[in-house]
Amino acid sequence: MTTTRADFDKVMVPNYAPAGFIPVRGHGSRLWDQAGREYVDFAGGIAVSAVGHTHPDVVAALKSQADKLWHVANVMTNEPAIRLAQKLIVHTFAERVFFANSGAEANEAALKLARKYASDHFPNNSKTKCLGCTINGCQCVTDKLEIVSFENSFHGRTLFTVTVGGQPKYTQGFGPLPQGIRHLPYNDIASAEAAISNKTCAVIVEPIQGEGGVTPAKREFLQRLRELCDKHSALLIFDEVQSGAGRTGALFAYMKYGVTPDILSSAKGLGGGFPVGAMLTTEKIAKSFGVGSHGSTYGGNPLACAVAGAVLDIVVAPETLRGVIERHQLFVDGLKKLNAKHNVFKDIRGDGLLIGCELQAAFEGRGKDIVKAAEVEGLLLLIAGPSVMRLAPSLLITHADIAEGMARFDAALAKFVAAAEADKESAASSSVAKAA
Ligand SMILES: *Cc1c(COP(=O)(O)O)cnc(C)c1O
Repeated sequence: MTTTRADFDKVMVPNYAPAGFIPVRGHGSRLWDQAGREYVDFAGGIAVSAVGHTHPDVVAALKSQADKLWHVANVMTNEPAIRLAQKLIVHTFAERVFFANSGAEANEAALKLARKYASDHFPNNSKTKCLGCTINGCQCVTDKLEIVSFENSFHGRTLFTVTVGGQPKYTQGFGPLPQGIRHLPYNDIASAEAAISNKTCAVIVEPIQGEGGVTPAKREFLQRLRELCDKHSALLIFDEVQSGAGRTGALFAYMKYGVTPDILSSAKGLGGGFPVGAMLTTEKIAKSFGVGSHGSTYGGNPLACAVAGAVLDIVVAPETLRGVIERHQLFVDGLKKLNAKHNVFKDIRGDGLLIGCELQAAFEGRGKDIVKAAEVEGLLLLIAGPSVMRLAPSLLITHADIAEGMARFDAALAKFVAAAEADKESAASSSVAKAA
């Protein structure tokens, strides 16, 4: 029996609107669909396929682990999980690691840890009623429970992480929501200075806002957040689910900024396509997650950790990270050339291989149409909000694939702009006809 895109609508909850074709095979930065059509992949599975599709080393790691051991749950530990944690610790500020299965779960752990840390270290002196639970005489009382986040941020889809995220459309209809969360304008130092206080338990920030429009933080902004957190004994959480795993040309973006967080969340590129998330922190902070305080059935699963270990080995190689910087320039040069021809972008921004192209006012809200036009030409693109084209390809994408993708992007933009102009003319002539 053949499976078709039309079947999707009959069997799936309608929360997604996937493309009209179904990919069945991938290699490097190319995908093939059911009909054998081939696509250049500038989307990278939304910044996930960090080393491309079916990288031989990663496939080998998966197959080798698949023959040995899949799952034991956290009543036992396993070798791939310990080895992956050791690698993450060697290469980052972290001294302790908690594994999860997604970015949302890594952030959920980070936010819960921050609340627990505040509760352990800053018992409630003002005797105000705990907002954290409803048990009479609870021991978790603290008035240091506020979480500061930023407008337009994205931290995942669990109720806690979606509430911490700064896009109100994602929480509409899901109340009552977790409390003690406030949102400030991103990159605005003055409002952070005014809002962060000794009531703040944590500040969570994406060094580069991904879903929110590919907006990098200013260095001074992250530096000031670090100082304010130190001053008020709040924890600084970097959500590097999208910006991490080599995407900016550093293993994690915090290294490029020179600002070290207390807790860091990773996922997406970390597993290169296998579901895995990680929360990194220090030994001191980790102590607040004592035995039984938090957990996950699958987190730290041997298969996931074996795959992530193989991905990480490729990502941390100096030639991979150098290659990201090189490819960034190729992409930016190519995009500037396209824009000189088609005049569609008003800004090209981002870092490494997380690149955003904001559409001109005349094309506001048309990002999805450009994604569709690109699909017709055999190119996969992403959007970040309705008016920003987002590119998040494999860190290993070849120069030839970049050139071919740009040629297809060129063809897609030519058709898109021609169609937009034809629409404008027919609208103008019909309004002329009406006036006459
Ligand atoms: C994608 C993303 C998440 C959520 O990750 P999931 O794996 O979808 O749960 C969280 N934070 C950021 C910055 C992301 O880009």
